Amino acid sequence: MSHQAGPPQGHPVGDKVLMHVAAVLKSALDVSDQVSRIGGDEFAVMRRNVTAPDALALADHMIALIGTPFEIEGLLVSIQASAGVAMSPKDGVDTEQLFKRADIALYASKDAGKGTARLFATAMEDVFLRRERLKSEVAKALDAQEFEIEYQPVIEIATGRVCRFEALLRWNHPASGRVSPAEFIPVAEETGAIVAIGDWVIRKACLAAATWPGDVGVAVNVSVRQFEPTLPLKIAGALSDSGLNESRLEIEITESVLMQGSDESLAILHQIRSLGVRISLDDFGTGYSSLSYLQRFPFHKLKIDRSFISGTIGTSEARAIVRSVIQLGHSLGMKVTAEGVETVEQLERMRVKGCDEAQGFLFSASVPSDEVNHLILRLNNGCAAGASAAHA
Ligand code: C2E
Ligand code: CA
Ligand code: CA
Repeated sequence: MSHQAGPPQGHPVGDKVLMHVAAVLKSALDVSDQVSRIGGDEFAVMRRNVTAPDALALADHMIALIGTPFEIEGLLVSIQASAGVAMSPKDGVDTEQLFKRADIALYASKDAGKGTARLFATAMEDVFLRRERLKSEVAKALDAQEFEIEYQPVIEIATGRVCRFEALLRWNHPASGRVSPAEFIPVAEETGAIVAIGDWVIRKACLAAATWPGDVGVAVNVSVRQFEPTLPLKIAGALSDSGLNESRLEIEITESVLMQGSDESLAILHQIRSLGVRISLDDFGTGYSSLSYLQRFPFHKLKIDRSFISGTIGTSEARAIVRSVIQLGHSLGMKVTAEGVETVEQLERMRVKGCDEAQGFLFSASVPSDEVNHLILRLNNGCAAGASAAHA
């Protein structure tokens, strides 16, 4: 059984957090149990003669204990742990195999959201092995030129015209075909490969956008891992090498960038903003959506997550949330974009609520770079036809 918590490390406070966790674990265990620290913030617990449900209950109990807020040096600290459980002899007879499978179960519980415990199951091994394979392959994919960027249009609701395209990364895997970014981006973030890949996306997207009409911009997703002190320089380099005007570039970040709570990321964001580049907060409404993040940085735009527009939460509650988010954004001087607009009804609802921009399959899915100019003509002409029909 292994536990993972996420305290700051290499730091006196981090050490105290680890000591606290160790003490909490010991308090939950019997004298015959064995507990040891097996990595930076990982602990292993071994208990004999226990059933699987009891082992899982013990793991849940320890997660709850670790999750209880406590005080260190006047700071109230709260940490979340995850746990993976493996049983002997079913999952392995030697320690190495047992640890490996507990670790695989730990991965699965982290995937399910922190603060949970999972029992090892064989199906988890397949997911784990695929992920391990992707880890090594994603590192080589950039040099092997297996990546491609597609572009999805964003429409200004008032005029019906294309105002921007979002750059969406595609991986043409030689054996597995297209691998979804939802699967490989987290892997590339974990290994750090996203930094080089992300640089390439920024450069390539700016070069492409420089060939589009001057009133059409480009939005690029930037991961939290890319927030290094050199990021503003890289962005400035991509702009000057492509000749793209800075006002046509938009960077999309998620709350995770601000959640780290580091002043460094905030300073980097301000530097990017001072280049004249626009910055939007992506997937708003998922994650923590803490309003304090909106206070920490002056975003140009909020993108409402598609689960509120076309997802299963198409309920009256979701509509109330969307209405409030649009009002909130506007009162803070931000534009608001609705993601995942799939039907005319959804678009009309957004128009009535005063939403500024819309993106989704109703207009187009993402298209390869060489189809962008044609798509602009088609969508803009469609809106002109709509306007003249309204006049007639
Ligand atoms: P995202 O930033 O929220 O991107 C929008 C996703 O919604 C895209 O999925 C897009 O294809 C999909 N989508 C657009 N319109 C609709 C619609 O009407 N209905 C539905 N159901 N889906 C729609 P995609 O391309 O699979 O990308 C998934 C995620 O991968 C992105 O979510 C983004 O977080 C990440 N990603 C993609 N490209 C990059 C990149 O270059 N860098 C980084 N860091 N992340 C990227
Ligand atoms: Ca995005
Ligand atoms: Ca999004």
